[in-house]
Amino acid sequence: MISIKSEREIELLKIAGNIVYQTHQYLKPHLKPGVTTKELDILAEKFIRQSGATPSFKGYGGFPGSICVSINDEVVHGIPGRRKLKNGDLVSIDIGACYQGYHGDSAWSYVVGTPSSEKAYLLEHTEKALFAGLAKVKAGVHLGDVSHAIEEYATSHHLGVVKELVGHGVGTNLHEEPEVPNYGKAGSGPILKDGMVIAIEPMLNLGVADIYELEDDWTIITADGKPSAHFEHTIVVRCDGYQILTGEE
Ligand code: MG
Ligand code: MG
Repeated sequence: MISIKSEREIELLKIAGNIVYQTHQYLKPHLKPGVTTKELDILAEKFIRQSGATPSFKGYGGFPGSICVSINDEVVHGIPGRRKLKNGDLVSIDIGACYQGYHGDSAWSYVVGTPSSEKAYLLEHTEKALFAGLAKVKAGVHLGDVSHAIEEYATSHHLGVVKELVGHGVGTNLHEEPEVPNYGKAGSGPILKDGMVIAIEPMLNLGVADIYELEDDWTIITADGKPSAHFEHTIVVRCDGYQILTGEE
């Protein structure tokens, strides 16, 4: 069942989402050559806790980090560690925060230093694919309309759409119903209603759509070694559209 959040719950989800947004802003200037992914993890965890929240990912399914940091051909779920960012790396940062039992979830991708034209293209069009999906969101539309818009945008820009990983409902659980695929048929799937809260998160590849999991049981990488990008917002469905909970107020 897809839950409809009360206005009181949406207020808490907004606070959680805002903490995620602020954590992204706080980390941005630290994305420089030489910083380790573990250093970013520590900075993020401190910031989230100082904001009165807890990192949603820490210990989730046994995940060892507070945030996910995925570099270049890593799609998602990169474990923070000793690796250092280098000039030209594409880095995807996924952050979740839990405030008074309610979660926010948002991912952004960046290039450290000077981007290659290929990576700049991938970033631009993965973010635009997210907004192509969002543009369809309002109460009364089928979830498939949103999924289809993302897929259509991505494929028309010759990007590979990761199918094994999907967006999701958000609430007192980090992952709730419904699943929000980044591909699908318009007019299919559940009908969105005012007060539903979902995370929409296209993961797009410069090359093929295929992915696999590394032996660490977490990191997902592209099958052809080409870069991947990830943009995600948690939003609330409204009668006339949507409100982003993990963006600027
Ligand atoms: Mg996320
Ligand atoms: Mg998510």
